[in-house]
Amino acid sequence: MQIEVDTHTHTIASGHAYSTIIENAKAAKQQGLKILCTTDHAELMPGAPHPWFFANQRILPRFLDGVAIIRGVEANIMDEAGNIDIDPMMDEHLDWVIGSFHDPVFAPDTKDSHTKALINLIKNGRVDALGHLGNPKYDFDFDQVINLAAVHNVAIEINNSTLLGHSRVGSIERCYEIAKVAKKYGAYITTGSDAHFCDAIGKLDLAKKLLNEVAVDPAKVITHSSAQFLAFLQQRGRDPIEEFRQLA
Ligand SMILES: [Zn+2]
Ligand SMILES: [Zn+2]
Repeated sequence: MQIEVDTHTHTIASGHAYSTIIENAKAAKQQGLKILCTTDHAELMPGAPHPWFFANQRILPRFLDGVAIIRGVEANIMDEAGNIDIDPMMDEHLDWVIGSFHDPVFAPDTKDSHTKALINLIKNGRVDALGHLGNPKYDFDFDQVINLAAVHNVAIEINNSTLLGHSRVGSIERCYEIAKVAKKYGAYITTGSDAHFCDAIGKLDLAKKLLNEVAVDPAKVITHSSAQFLAFLQQRGRDPIEEFRQLA
């Protein structure tokens, strides 16, 4: 499975990551990526930047080292109503929004509670992808959530860091199961390194292996090509990004 886009990466602005966007872009180029989504943590994560950081991404060049830069965020799921910690006024300034569970914002709860939060998150229509769902601390009803994500064109992230399985028992098996369920319902899949240091940018070997083993249709993997990723953003209701016309 060829992958041209990394949709989940962090810079020093996240407070617990160690590279600049320039270092990340250089690494992305070395890895052969066409598009890099920069997705620092939104404000409720300890150490995260002020909301202005995200709106002000408009000053970033559209290309760094020849790699297209997507102005994104990794938002925190705040509650069962599926609210995220981004002011709706900011939405128009963002090209790409991931919604994720993180302990400091949404303490791990019951399977039912996580399922409710994810369902409402999808229905609220403000996130493009569900981040690192393989985390066993946040169990949820795979069928209900992933089927709904397919209906609403919300992408399911296969997170390369989760697949390393360093942190939690069961992560890897869950990622495989999630991909199988996504395949069953025809949900879109995205791939993110979740790099917190530049040497992990574009390292998506475990995600690729998973997609190959589960035999996911490349047409459903939005990061398979830059054109597919940009088409997905338009399917999500965004205007085309003028500077990226050559990639579409
Ligand atoms: Zn995260
Ligand atoms: Zn992250």
